[in-house]
Amino acid sequence: MIGPGETTPVPVPHVVAWNITRRCNLACSHCYISAGSWHAASGELGTAECRAILDDIIDVNPSPLLILSGGEPLVRDDLEEIAAHATEAGATVVVGTNGTGLTDARIESLKGAGVQGVAVSVDSLRPEYHDRFRHGGGALADTMAAVDRLVEHELDFVVQATVTRGNRGEVGELAAWAAALGAVSFNLYFLVPTGRGERMEGLSPEENESVLAELAELERTFRGRMMVRSKCQPQLMRHVIEADDGSPLLNYRTRCPCGVNYCRITPEGKLTPCPYLPAVAGDLTVETFRDVWERAELFQALRHGTLGGRCGRCEYREVCGGCRARAFAQSGDALGADESCAYEPTGDQPMVKRRAEVSYGEGADPEMPWTAEATARLGRIPSFVRGVVTRRVEDFARDRGYAVVDLDVMAEVRRALPVDFSKKLPFFLGGGTATAPGAPGQPQGQPAREHAWGHNA
Ligand code: SF4
Ligand code: SF4
Ligand code: SF4
Repeated sequence: MIGPGETTPVPVPHVVAWNITRRCNLACSHCYISAGSWHAASGELGTAECRAILDDIIDVNPSPLLILSGGEPLVRDDLEEIAAHATEAGATVVVGTNGTGLTDARIESLKGAGVQGVAVSVDSLRPEYHDRFRHGGGALADTMAAVDRLVEHELDFVVQATVTRGNRGEVGELAAWAAALGAVSFNLYFLVPTGRGERMEGLSPEENESVLAELAELERTFRGRMMVRSKCQPQLMRHVIEADDGSPLLNYRTRCPCGVNYCRITPEGKLTPCPYLPAVAGDLTVETFRDVWERAELFQALRHGTLGGRCGRCEYREVCGGCRARAFAQSGDALGADESCAYEPTGDQPMVKRRAEVSYGEGADPEMPWTAEATARLGRIPSFVRGVVTRRVEDFARDRGYAVVDLDVMAEVRRALPVDFSKKLPFFLGGGTATAPGAPGQPQGQPAREHAWGHNA
């Protein structure tokens, strides 16, 4: 609660998702942005406008994680120009795509533009399901071929799927397939009834509960090889807290980050709290990113407001908080209850606190001396992971009796990572940078997605 005359620091927009187009070669049943081939490019922000908005974002956070998606972002031939501009300015850039247009040449040009990873959507290994769900004959074969090319070109990738009753039985198989190919993460999305998804019926709260329990189990199975996470369903944290003390997910600031450390830009330049939450906080074609981020009432409400309904009385509200986009879609109130949850809080239980002292999304001032070179290297990683990395590297150094953190110490931390990424370290563990979430004795963490790499799944 903020008292009269008091101010609270404005939170950092660590992750910015940007739907740069509504155009798409597919027309998936659940698409939150109702993308399709019939949309025109005319309403979209032009390249120069995108560059100007990027500069505004960098002015507020010099090292955000930027997710460029759509629609299908590959339909824009200035995607690489936008990505390169963001990379050069200091952002870590990833792309969310349906994968069907990822040719060898396009993968190389994305890499050339500094893109650090790609998220592709695979809902089933059965074409009859995937292609029907995505409204595109041959889509699965095209996307699977693209995944092979990503492996070949050594560009990190995340596999995303949206769970429905039609593929509920395939979740484990999909995760195993993604892990076998070397995905850095398997993200399972749960339906938010917005956009075209409004016409779909999601899983019942009980079905969600059983999928989440399976997901928590899969997370244990693939720990150290591949991250497994739920999206639009922060209720996973309840399962993890109840059943798995060692989970790296406990290092995350897991409560829905929308409007707090996360926001979305629409193809027309409107700023909203999350891709799945269409309420507009401001218009970046007439206001600066800073003005909207710092002042919009909607963001203030999400940062300081009180949750309603069962989420409001739930002891898990600090670690889960429910999906605000779903609450908005269900009731028109972004602070209302997330009715997809099966948990019935009584309201008389002590608050469940998160476990990690410093979690992703938070800063941590160095407690040890760092050389200038080590400090500069730390400064090049995405802002939301910097606090955790600082703490882990210092713990590692202290453990070994080092008085100063220098590049050698950082390299040693990196070598000691207990992760077998066969080709190379994924970008967030630092292609050349000794970022160290997951130093020995610590849960292995994969920080680059507080809610990240979000496409339409
Ligand atoms: S979900 Fe993605 S691939 Fe499907 S229509 Fe929407 S933007 Fe296109
Ligand atoms: S009631 Fe709300 S805060 Fe509690 S676990 Fe369910 S969704 Fe999360
Ligand atoms: S949990 Fe939060 S960030 Fe994730 S989809 Fe829902 S509203 Fe968006």
